[in-house]
Amino acid sequence: MAHSGSLSRRHFMTAVAGVAGATLLPRALMADPQDPVVNATQKDGKPVSREKVPWRALPFPLKQVRLGEGPCKIAMEADRQYLRSLPPDRLLHTFRITAAIPSSAQPLGGWEAPDCELRGHYAGGHYLSACALMYAACGDEDLKTNAASVVDGLSKCQAALKSGYLSAFPVEFFDRLRERQQVWAPFYTIHKIMAGLLDMYEYCGNEQALDMVEKMAAWVDRYTESLSYEHMQRVLGTEFGGMGEVLCNLYAVTGKRDYLDIAPRFDKKQFFDPLAAHRDELKGLHVNTHIPQVIAAARYYELTGERRYRDIAEYFWNEVVNERSYCTGGTSNDESWNTDPGKLSTELGPSTTECCCAYNMMKLTRHLFGWSADARRMDYYERTLFNHRLGTINPEDGTMMYYLPLASGYWKTFGKPLDAFWCCTGTGSEEYAKLADTIYWHNDDSLYVNLYIDSQLEWPEKGLQVRQQTRFPEEQGTTLVLSGKSPAPLAINLRIPYWTQGGSVKINGTTLPAFASPGSYLTLNRVWHPGDKIELSLPMGLHVDTMPDDETVQAAMYGPLVLAGRFDPVTRDQTYIGSSPKGVQSKVPDVVTDLTHPTAWIEPDSKQPLTFHSVGQPQPLTLVPLNQLIHERYAVYWKVKSKSL
Ligand SMILES: [Zn+2]
Repeated sequence: MAHSGSLSRRHFMTAVAGVAGATLLPRALMADPQDPVVNATQKDGKPVSREKVPWRALPFPLKQVRLGEGPCKIAMEADRQYLRSLPPDRLLHTFRITAAIPSSAQPLGGWEAPDCELRGHYAGGHYLSACALMYAACGDEDLKTNAASVVDGLSKCQAALKSGYLSAFPVEFFDRLRERQQVWAPFYTIHKIMAGLLDMYEYCGNEQALDMVEKMAAWVDRYTESLSYEHMQRVLGTEFGGMGEVLCNLYAVTGKRDYLDIAPRFDKKQFFDPLAAHRDELKGLHVNTHIPQVIAAARYYELTGERRYRDIAEYFWNEVVNERSYCTGGTSNDESWNTDPGKLSTELGPSTTECCCAYNMMKLTRHLFGWSADARRMDYYERTLFNHRLGTINPEDGTMMYYLPLASGYWKTFGKPLDAFWCCTGTGSEEYAKLADTIYWHNDDSLYVNLYIDSQLEWPEKGLQVRQQTRFPEEQGTTLVLSGKSPAPLAINLRIPYWTQGGSVKINGTTLPAFASPGSYLTLNRVWHPGDKIELSLPMGLHVDTMPDDETVQAAMYGPLVLAGRFDPVTRDQTYIGSSPKGVQSKVPDVVTDLTHPTAWIEPDSKQPLTFHSVGQPQPLTLVPLNQLIHERYAVYWKVKSKSL
């Protein structure tokens, strides 16, 4: 989230929460509330589609997919327990103070502290989105109840404030914004609250929340309408999150055209114009201020069909993923893009790759994948999920990281449970509630299996269930077992990842003679019967990810996993020291190897899965997946020296 405010000088946030209409789906598939990113239900419960572009593939509603045992379930449970630990009265405290409603609750700390200009972003925003998503993902009724009580408390605050405005800080912050005086990010915070309320409606059916977000939108309309175009462009110089996106989604839910008309007031011309012209002018920009604007562009394209917005989204995604992302899928250094495209080797530090950026890029990827069903989008999604999202929540207490440092010799730091509430605490709370939302996608006659995660899919419109059994990535493949009432004709598309080294598939024990190329789909088109079993083998191998601007700086990977050298453990104080590691960076040895065989210095452990050892190095090294390290110093990128030198 970019800054200006009382707590910190650099940083920070974003988030988003979705909602919106459906597409060229047959009626049968629209019978029930769908994934709110692309499908919406009206207040009367009827499904509705306001999409203007065809979706090649659609995600299943979160409630139709359940995680099985494995690293995703562990992360989700840690998040769930953390959310359950947050008392509604404490979450409501600063909102009540702002609305002159008595509150004796103990204030929260960090970015929710009563003197923080971002207060309310988590307590009345991310928290609601996360609880709504968690309810959809696992049916936790207590969280739904707690979140509904926060909505109810917020409604009283909104009523007391009278104008439709709802925030934990006074409306005068918006005067400062208008006058271009220093203020942190008022619209950013308003976006979180609006998205949280809309998620409570979409996932939990909370109509009170929908009424509240509509009142907020009316206030936003009045505020922005009063400014000239040029004045509003200046206002957009202060981080404003996904305001355009939530307004688009509100239109998709309600059908009220006004919301869609307001959304482009948040188009930042100076940012969008170069992207539409396919020019990378991202250098110098605060990263997480801008990704949500592109998500808004994607959503606006879907609801209007205006091609310019698709161009913006696709060009941006290609530049960030191909030119400005590290081996983990993360992007940013000290929250910004500081260099020209492809210049990353000088950008490794204790504050590389803000977690919010990964969250938002994955969110954007879902839109782009929906338009194209291009397997390469999901290669990126998997890379980021397994290397930047898994492993950045502390499984012991559900706390989140802010930055995932990529300079060697640092360690992972987590926010204290009640004294952080960073932007990344917010997006993390949402992320780990929705880990099941991208495993399976579909269209009329096809199923896409995008991620290999132990899980179960219910597809009632087809009378079909799919049980995916896997210990991936420890297991190099997966097994799908179909069940249902009757034979079903269906094309099942299995993603063949970019990293696979060979591979094969069996149906009911018989190996098929054909396979598909890495970075594409293997399509199995037939009439499926209950009990049919698909066994997919995806052999992993060692490979390297080389810095685009320095081939002697390399990260080692195994299949989808970034491997990290494991070094000394850190103390509890170091773990909770702040948003990035502070203090001494351990010296990490260079690696000596034959550059023509860049993985020759690594060999797998003969007994421990996903564990590797160095070969022929002055200092013995052990490597494990980065996502498994929590309390140890590590090295991701190695300076590699040629053996012959
Ligand atoms: Zn963040």
